[in-house]
Amino acid sequence: MVLLTREEQFRKLFPKAPAFRFRQMEEALFSPVFKSFADISNMSLAMRELLTKEISWLAIKEVQVLESAKRDTFKAVVEMVDQKRVETVLMKNARAQWTVCVSSQVGCAMACTFCATGKMGFTRNLIADEIVDQVRFWNIFLRERPKLAQRISNVVFMGMGEPLANYENVKETLSVLLAHTDMGMTRITVSTVGLIPMLRKLLADPKWPAVRLAVSLHSADAVTRQVMMPSSFPAFLNDLAVWTQEYFEKFDSRRRHLTFEYVMLSKINDTEMHAQALITFARKVGNVRINLIPYNFIPQTSKRSAEQAKNVYRGSLPGDFAHFEKTLEEAGVTVTRRRTMGDDIAAACGQLIVDKSES
Ligand code: SF4
Repeated sequence: MVLLTREEQFRKLFPKAPAFRFRQMEEALFSPVFKSFADISNMSLAMRELLTKEISWLAIKEVQVLESAKRDTFKAVVEMVDQKRVETVLMKNARAQWTVCVSSQVGCAMACTFCATGKMGFTRNLIADEIVDQVRFWNIFLRERPKLAQRISNVVFMGMGEPLANYENVKETLSVLLAHTDMGMTRITVSTVGLIPMLRKLLADPKWPAVRLAVSLHSADAVTRQVMMPSSFPAFLNDLAVWTQEYFEKFDSRRRHLTFEYVMLSKINDTEMHAQALITFARKVGNVRINLIPYNFIPQTSKRSAEQAKNVYRGSLPGDFAHFEKTLEEAGVTVTRRRTMGDDIAAACGQLIVDKSES
């Protein structure tokens, strides 16, 4: 099935319309005032009627929304026009506003062995409208619940898929979000497994906005990393170190916008050897921030338990986690620890999966 973007659909309907007409429509999509094309009163009635008939106000539709017990996380399964499904998450952040976690692909080809999405395999890239509309979906969701805080202040590309494997559509999404929301570049984070050619490409791309980047490191020991992340390769750590130097040369003032993510797995990457390897790596690349992530166990009670049975990983024991963290801090490495949210509805990092029958 050929997926047309909203702009392509618009141009097909109105081939002679001046360019500002599409921009006018795109601005309306983000306005809290409008709920449908019919509301865009500065367009002609004929245009509004045709838009309403031919183009969906949202490129995704809700299948299910789950809410965490603490009401600080919501997870939605959404469906696209070709019936493919992805998950998107809304999380309360430290400023008591909301962060949206978006998916960029249906499934993922990277097959990280600790990740639920990695077990789905890859189906297709999302087009920019389908990613943008995950943010719009949650905006509409919040507007319908006025008792909840209303502001979405951050977006993270940490849902299903490897964003840099869908480079052009993710870049287009960033451009639309930066143009039509009040979020600046520091409020958007693209998380990547570390696709070296794409990391090089974005450094050389004048149109790539300087949003925050979170590179999934997960181990500074090459053998361990390759077990956890089959997309890794023996020279990866060296290539990443070289790239990081290039990043700092280009963005020294934005040095803090680069984070290395490290999911903590018991006896897999949390031993003394792994801590020392990470310290050596951090010293080699310069002062980078390492974000330690508690591993999210997928609940046995869910229908995902068959998948979980194949998953041999367990999160680091609290004492091992604290010791690892302290070892890094004492060596002068900048370390943060990510809060776990939404694990009771399988909305936490690494838990997003849509059953094969659904995707
Ligand atoms: S961790 Fe990210 S890159 Fe790895 S399989 Fe999961 S979704 Fe894909």
